[in-house]
Amino acid sequence: MILTAEPQWQNKQLDVIVDLTPTKIYGDESLLYQVWQNLFHNAIKFTPENGTIQVTLAKNKDGQTEITIQDSGIGISQEDQLRIFERFYKADLSRQAKIGGSGLGLSIVKRIADLHEMKIAVDSSEGKGTKIIIQLPKQ
Ligand code: ADP
Repeated sequence: MILTAEPQWQNKQLDVIVDLTPTKIYGDESLLYQVWQNLFHNAIKFTPENGTIQVTLAKNKDGQTEITIQDSGIGISQEDQLRIFERFYKADLSRQAKIGGSGLGLSIVKRIADLHEMKIAVDSSEGKGTKIIIQLPKQ
């Protein structure tokens, strides 16, 4: 998936760093593919040229497997972070920057994550970047 999106991130001269621990993930492959694709595409879309995107899959300190997609892009304000998983919601920063999109992607991501009992969280600050964390259920 990261390779299929390659023309998009190479056009922007983004540095994409991937560090995935091989892990079995149980679920609907095509739905989960939509999750990774959406999150990775958002990271590309909201990161200006020469930025960095980091994708990792690893255990956190509590032994829970987490997937993180971190970018060095425009970020999301605290206020908007509470609402980005709503249908059609677009944050102020992306409106200001006139970045297109329907505002639907993350609501679908959240639905799919819920179906798979995965927790999804956002950690972001304006101008510094965004980190989306997906915690897999205990297996
Ligand atoms: P869109 O189609 O607008 O990208 P999403 O549902 O995927 O819709 O995202 C909702 C909003 O959350 C986006 O419009 C944008 O304002 C914000 N957002 C999502 N991902 C990021 C990101 N990686 N960096 C900055 N803002 C983001």
